[in-house]
Formats: sequence, structure tokens, C-alpha cells
Amino acid sequence: METISLLPQSINQGLSRDRTIVFYSLNNNWQYRRPDSLIDPSWGVICFPENFQGVEPEDTWQLRVTNPANYEQWLQLGRDAYRLEKERCSRESTRVVGKIVGNYGSDVVYQDCFTPLTIERFTGKGAGAVYGSPIKVKDGRTPWENLFIAGTDQGYLGIVGAMLSGVTIVNQHLLT
Ligand SMILES: Cc1cc2nc3c(=O)[nH]c(=O)nc-3n(C[C@H](O)[C@H](O)[C@H](O)COP(=O)(O)OP(=O)(O)OC[C@H]3O[C@@H](n4cnc5c(N)ncnc54)[C@H](O)[C@@H]3O)c2cc1C
Repeated sequence: METISLLPQSINQGLSRDRTIVFYSLNNNWQYRRPDSLIDPSWGVICFPENFQGVEPEDTWQLRVTNPANYEQWLQLGRDAYRLEKERCSRESTRVVGKIVGNYGSDVVYQDCFTPLTIERFTGKGAGAVYGSPIKVKDGRTPWENLFIAGTDQGYLGIVGAMLSGVTIVNQHLLT
């Protein structure tokens, strides 16, 4: 689940100033797994997508938080419960992340969030799996000798991962 918060420029200070991404876990025993609850706010990724050289500051700035979520549990909620739980989980995520970057919940001027159901609905990715199939094909080979998998399902995640994956497939299979 991702929660996107817009904050006034006046509170952009401290930790958030010189970072673009922070991976966090409040537990020493970190487990990369689907949680048993709607979300697990105790670990996740905090992004500051505007903290890059050349990005002009606007009136507000963005803070994005991604937490692991349980697709099946979101799927079982009725329409009203779904809306309420989105709000509750966003609030909870904001509260926990406030412990790391400084409390910002009361400064949020706009907040939106999406769940695994949103991802599935708008991208067609089964169970809202942002990072594709759990089965990765590391060498990118398929049953067809002239067809290779480049991207998330080769095992490199995210946009940079998809680009790197293309480079490795070219180097491994096409340039040799
Ligand atoms: C909501 C969301 C937010 C994200 N945010 C970030 C982020 O902030 N930073 C980041 O680095 N990554 C982010 N990601 C992850 C990133 O988008 C993916 O890891 C990356 O796009 C994967 O690239 P890909 O080429 O492997 O797959 P995709 O970009 O999914 O491309 C697969 C393509 O194959 C097509 N396709 C599927 N089946 C068929 C078929 N049978 N025949 C023909 N075509 C087919 C699809 O239409 C699609 O165009 C996000 C993903 C989502 C869903």
C-alpha cells in the first residue's frame, strides 16, 4: 500500500532534505513477507521524489510511503469498510513514519493512497503484485531461443531495475 502526502514547503527540513529514499524497519528481526494484517507499517520504503538536483521546489512537496499489504484481506472488505480502512491504514503509516522523519501528520495538506486492489484494477497485475511474478527467471530465457524476459520477472525490480535488466539481457544473450 502506498500513501502519498503533500506537505507545505515550509516544513521541508531535517532528515527529508538530503534524502531521496529511506528503507526502514522498526524490528531487528525483519521479515520480507506478506503481512497477516491489511498492512504492516513497521517496515517499508519512504520516498522523497522531489529531492533531486534540477527539480524546482513548488508550494508543496511530496512524501511517499510504501508498506507491505495483504491483498486477500483487502479483497474481503465491503465498499464502506474498504474506504474506512484505507483512511485508517494511511493514518497509521503516517504515524509510524513520523517516528523516523519527524511527525508530519498534522501538516498534511493533501493525502491519497492506493492498495493492492487499486494496482490490480489499473495495471492488471494479479493480486496487485507491483514487482511481478514471485517466480523469477534469472537468465531471462524462455522456451523460445530467440525470446528473452527483460524486466521485473527477470528479478530486477522497479524502473531502474527494468532498465538494468534490459542491459544484462543484451550483454548476456544478444552481444555474445
Ligand atoms: C502503482 C505502482 C507504482 C510503482 N512505483 C514505482 C516507483 O516509484 N519506482 C520504481 O522504481 N518502480 C515503481 N513501480 C514498479 C515498476 O513500475 C515496475 O517494476 C516496472 O515497470 C517493471 O517493468 P517491466 O518492463 O518488467 O514490466 P511492465 O512495466 O509491467 O511491462 C510489461 C508490459 O507487458 C505487457 N504485457 C503483459 N502481458 C502481455 C501479453 N500477453 N502480450 C503482450 N504484452 C503483454 C503489459 O501491458 C506491459 O506493457 C511501481 C509499480 C506500480 C504498479
